[in-house]
Amino acid sequence: MSHYGILQWADYARGVASPAERSAIGEHLSSGCAECRAAAVFWGTLARVSGVMAQQQAPESAVKLARAICPAAPRRAFRIPCELVFDSFLAPAPAGLRASWQVGWQALYRAGDCSLDLRIEPDPLSSQAALIGQVSNHATPDSPMSDVPVSLKSGKRVVAETRSNRFGEFQMEYDQQSRLELCVLLEGGAKRIVAPLRRVAVQAEGAGNAPRRANRANRPQGNQG
Ligand SMILES: [Zn+2]
Repeated sequence: MSHYGILQWADYARGVASPAERSAIGEHLSSGCAECRAAAVFWGTLARVSGVMAQQQAPESAVKLARAICPAAPRRAFRIPCELVFDSFLAPAPAGLRASWQVGWQALYRAGDCSLDLRIEPDPLSSQAALIGQVSNHATPDSPMSDVPVSLKSGKRVVAETRSNRFGEFQMEYDQQSRLELCVLLEGGAKRIVAPLRRVAVQAEGAGNAPRRANRANRPQGNQG
């Protein structure tokens, strides 16, 4: 006589087994199989407890703890269509964007209600570069953009990662390579923005006086303008 396995019990306990399977299991149980009787009790209890727990809001502390235990298992996040609306390689800076900044690349992406203000400053002495950016929501400018996970990816490989500060600003240093994408995870990982980055070379002429790196006063302060 064969008994039943986890798949059958999971369906039976939740009441989603087919009528034929349901009656077969019922007959088997009434034949007096102690092993399956114990399994039926266990799975029935589990289904009941799970049903009750699913109705309850988990405490914030428990959610935080669970996220800390498995941080890298986000479900496939919805990718917000992302549009490059300003590229300093293609156009002179419009009013509102700083014109004083000359080395590297400056870009502005729009993705849904969000803006992604980026600049890349290449290191003249190596293949390294610094990425300075700010993510903001222009539909609800007061909504917090702090602690947003930001990563640089080459395919699936994470090259650098950080989190935004309370102004939505972030900064990363990384080794320049082709086909890099900046990934910004929003709403707890439910949505993501993926913005391609340019590879930026330092111009040869005048490299002697070129600023090594923009100072902090040149960091983006917002998207007003
Ligand atoms: Zn059995």
